[in-house]
Amino acid sequence: MNILLVGAGLSGAVIGRQLAEAGHDCRIIDSRPHIGGNCHTQRDPETGVMLHLYGPHIFHTDDEGVWAYVNRHADFVPFQNRVKTTSQGAVYSLPVNLHTINQFFGTTLRPDEARAFIESKADNSIADPETFEEQALRFVGPELYEAFFKGYTEKQWGCSPRELPASILKRLPVRFNYDDNYFFHRFQGMPRDGYTAMIEDILDHPRITVELETSYDPAMADDADHVFWSGPLDGFFGYSLGRLGYRTLDFERFTYQGDYQGCAVMNYGDRDVPWTRITEHKHFSPWESHEGSPCYREYSREAGPKDIPYYPIRLVEEKSLLTQYIDLARSQEKVTFVGRLGTYRYLDMDVTIREALDTAGVFLGAEKAGTAVPAFVNSPQ
Ligand SMILES: Cc1cc2nc3c(=O)[nH]c(=O)nc-3n(C[C@H](O)[C@H](O)[C@H](O)COP(=O)(O)OP(=O)(O)OC[C@H]3O[C@@H](n4cnc5c(N)ncnc54)[C@H](O)[C@@H]3O)c2cc1C
Repeated sequence: MNILLVGAGLSGAVIGRQLAEAGHDCRIIDSRPHIGGNCHTQRDPETGVMLHLYGPHIFHTDDEGVWAYVNRHADFVPFQNRVKTTSQGAVYSLPVNLHTINQFFGTTLRPDEARAFIESKADNSIADPETFEEQALRFVGPELYEAFFKGYTEKQWGCSPRELPASILKRLPVRFNYDDNYFFHRFQGMPRDGYTAMIEDILDHPRITVELETSYDPAMADDADHVFWSGPLDGFFGYSLGRLGYRTLDFERFTYQGDYQGCAVMNYGDRDVPWTRITEHKHFSPWESHEGSPCYREYSREAGPKDIPYYPIRLVEEKSLLTQYIDLARSQEKVTFVGRLGTYRYLDMDVTIREALDTAGVFLGAEKAGTAVPAFVNSPQ
């Protein structure tokens, strides 16, 4: 079959590779001048540092199949993300852990004591937290909430934590030990030559052709037996019902000679500091050595029509618009919507790869059985 895949990010590349290996011809297009989607990395011409152009990406997973898959396509170097935060005039370790708690409160508590102490701070009158703020107050109490969650969240989401659902905070752990590894997953690492080299390797198959700086035109679907769409779900329909809300990021670069902040990621918890964090990219490749150090102040704001969509907002309004787009998508005959934009969800890379592998499996299964391929293998809701 002739397969058209829109988007040369992880979703398009992994699905394309699976289908090419099964004997299908895959044409992958991307409107950008490079492959890799938002995981794109490139060497900085000025300093030689490997840059994560659309924000820092750390690979972490518990999925053994996905870990084996990425290791087939890249040489991974062990890497653990250790994030710090500047808040109220001091530097602390994140996620909030025993060190953070003891430093913040000037205590020397052991794990059980700290657990009891934080429980004594928690607002137990909130039985069933509905908002982010209620969840935080219920979970960690007012002091840690103010210092580590409130200001950062207001900047990241552009609204009060009282307007955000509690579910956002449930993902953020408080640890009663000194483990400051940001992620819990068993497998964590960085591709030695960057993500773009890994995706280049995935795309390296004689049945795959890649066309860059090529935007989707509906006429392209005429030549295809099936289309996989990893662009924005609402974009496929020309935003005819309105735009699904996204947050976008602005990156303000400065270059330092030496080591600017001593770590890859420094968050800024105070509301009066306008950026959410500073990332110093050479710390994402600690096995390399560079004198010049590109750093990025990161600012979050609502995405306009011309901005890159980063984080789906998914509040009540967006959810009702999303339902309408899902209905439209299901009325399409030979299009499957995939990936973080096509299904309007935040997806880590490992989940993106897992879903792409599963989607290819569903396609090949349907081909064999002579049944229709669904519009969504992974539901946006
Ligand atoms: C700031 C940020 C940090 C992240 N950090 C991490 C991390 O540390 N660890 C982790 O595991 N994950 C991280 N992620 C998630 C990761 O970026 C995604 O899992 C991954 O990019 C999803 O790949 P995708 O192919 O679905 O989408 P994308 O990478 O967005 O690819 C979609 C592609 O489609 C193209 N496209 C769109 N519309 C059209 C069109 N009309 N015509 C042609 N081409 C089109 C786009 O140009 C793009 O290249 C992060 C995400 C963000 C936003």
